[in-house]
Amino acid sequence: MHTAGIDVGSTQTKCVVLDENGHIRGRGLRMTGADVVKAGREVLEQACAGAGIEPHEVLYTVGTGYGRFRVAAGDDQVTEIGCHARGAACLFPDTRTILDIGGQDTKAIRISERGEVVDFCMNDKCAAGTGRFLAASAEVMGLDVSEIGPLSLRSTERLKITNVCTVFVESEILNQLSRGRRREDILAGVHRAIAGRSASLIRRVGDEPALTFTGGVARNPGMVAAVEERLGRRINVSADSQYIGALGAAIFAMERALAGARRREAQGARP
Ligand code: ADP
Repeated sequence: MHTAGIDVGSTQTKCVVLDENGHIRGRGLRMTGADVVKAGREVLEQACAGAGIEPHEVLYTVGTGYGRFRVAAGDDQVTEIGCHARGAACLFPDTRTILDIGGQDTKAIRISERGEVVDFCMNDKCAAGTGRFLAASAEVMGLDVSEIGPLSLRSTERLKITNVCTVFVESEILNQLSRGRRREDILAGVHRAIAGRSASLIRRVGDEPALTFTGGVARNPGMVAAVEERLGRRINVSADSQYIGALGAAIFAMERALAGARRREAQGARP
């Protein structure tokens, strides 16, 4: 039996396929783009290919993320907050606080020992301090978003970036470059600025260890280091950080498929 979770984010769409033992068998990832339905279908196909099955063999699919209601294969929908909580608690059972930095928003979520959401807050008004801000910084320097984290770790001089606004960061970076500042020092400042903003969101929900960092930006080692420096402790990070929402959705799908099977069995057993 296989189930799937599809996380249609504002920037990237992710899919995880689980087997009956709850093990990840396949993953799919692509840019969301303008055609949300197509993005959902394609990541499911990718993840099924990885699992060695056809999409029609998936028993139950849960959609999450901002485009969750447009997942054609979706049997049900769960909010991304619930799915990140579930996925993080599965990979790191000691999780009490989650920091999720995605393409266009940042969320802090506090969860109970049982993985249930207790509180959350997010900066959804603009893309300040999110993946979009990092992408804009990378763009100004002519770098790929995957290059800026490792480069920031080579910084030797502490430099303060005052702007977390995606629109104004470009001129601030150009200004620093024209003053002869090194790219790695500027980037370390950019990462520290986001870590500072994230730390205030975390404080708002109550910073309880252990903290698990989720979302695509958790793939950036410079960001992990900046958050750890800011909080003054180690945090949980998985190689599957960007798939944690999709993983949570696939776990909900598994539970719903099993509950449906039990219900049908009980109805069949009735005289
Ligand atoms: P959303 O769900 O909001 O679409 P994600 O959690 O999928 O967002 O994260 C997308 C963001 O993750 C991108 O904007 C990008 O900045 C960042 N990202 C993705 N892959 C990498 C990578 N390899 N290294 C650094 N950052 C990455």
